Amino acid sequence: MHFIWEAVILRLPYNIFSMDIHLIRSSEVDKILFTKVVDLLQSIPGPIRICCEQEELINFDNDELQNIIIPDEEKWFRQEKVVYNYIAKESAMMPDFPLERKTASWESLFKKAAKYRLDKLIPSDQFVFLITDIPNKSNWFAALDVNNPFNGFIHADDWEYIIDCSAAFPVAYEVLALFLQKHLFNGVMELRQKVHGTSIGCVSDLCMNKREIILKLRTADICPSCMHTLKEQLPLNVIHHARMIMESLRVKMLFAQNFRQDVPLSRLIITPQKKLFLPDFDNQEVKLRPLEKALYFLFLENPDGIFLSNLCDHREKLYTIYTRLSNRGMLDEMKIRIDNMTNVLTNSASEKISRIRQVFEELIGQDLAEHYVIRGEVGEAKKIAIERNLVVEE
Ligand SMILES: [Zn+2]
Repeated sequence: MHFIWEAVILRLPYNIFSMDIHLIRSSEVDKILFTKVVDLLQSIPGPIRICCEQEELINFDNDELQNIIIPDEEKWFRQEKVVYNYIAKESAMMPDFPLERKTASWESLFKKAAKYRLDKLIPSDQFVFLITDIPNKSNWFAALDVNNPFNGFIHADDWEYIIDCSAAFPVAYEVLALFLQKHLFNGVMELRQKVHGTSIGCVSDLCMNKREIILKLRTADICPSCMHTLKEQLPLNVIHHARMIMESLRVKMLFAQNFRQDVPLSRLIITPQKKLFLPDFDNQEVKLRPLEKALYFLFLENPDGIFLSNLCDHREKLYTIYTRLSNRGMLDEMKIRIDNMTNVLTNSASEKISRIRQVFEELIGQDLAEHYVIRGEVGEAKKIAIERNLVVEE
């Protein structure tokens, strides 16, 4: 009995603070984006745990959405409005005006989080954040519920007009920001009064203009005053974990934005489970689907390159690699997939090569990616440029 009490007391400090963050997505949010957000937040193990059910989707009924026409004066002068951001990025297509969007009230967004909490019996001290593409009335990027600051929403859309990398970075950052802000301020009202109105690159910056959030992401910092408050509210290991994740988001975002071009190339590690990692680029994993990976390994094994028209000559080798990688489906089906990919009359191999390029570019930016992708001019053999002494099979 004594022993059990001791265990309870030892665990007490951690039970006071919620470390579990449940992420839910509304149905229009891209599953790949959502997965990337979760991956980014889970990439560093620690006390902050991200929980999600990928297939659980939150739907909005029509009566929960309102058509809102963005008025003329806001179009041009209110910087926090998304329209400003359309204008800010010259290359973006200007939307047709008047811009009319289905918009949700904050209450209906928070209700989704509250309902999920109720349905799934999530304890009151754990967070539930809704990730949604549906614009909210004041066009905020993220907010906590005044009535229950363990509920919140994060807006995942419109980022393409502001930032030249995946929206997963700002969305993941904002998950952490909401979590920290809950502990930084005594209630949401205090939060709205005390956040830094002028951006200083702290997690508590208000960022009325979405573009200002780029500064927060670049610094990935917590100012001394906010840090002082946090230390009174959260165990050090939790603060440390949050900062580690923020720092890893910062570094990964720099790679993705093509800012890290002056660094030496990373090794490419192939684990015994045939996973691919770039240990010198923040140890990012290159996630390819089995067929893409089979094709990639084939090109790795052929440093002189292969003409796509000759891919059919490598079918047997591809069968072998693919069956080692995938345990999905019958052997016959696997052969059909390989036959299809090596058939010059289909576009299948080119599509796989494009997708591999996309994965690398999103991880490390266009310039660095050139060394790792399968490439070659039309009429030339395609190859992977990287020196093979950098490819390490564990
Ligand atoms: Zn601060």
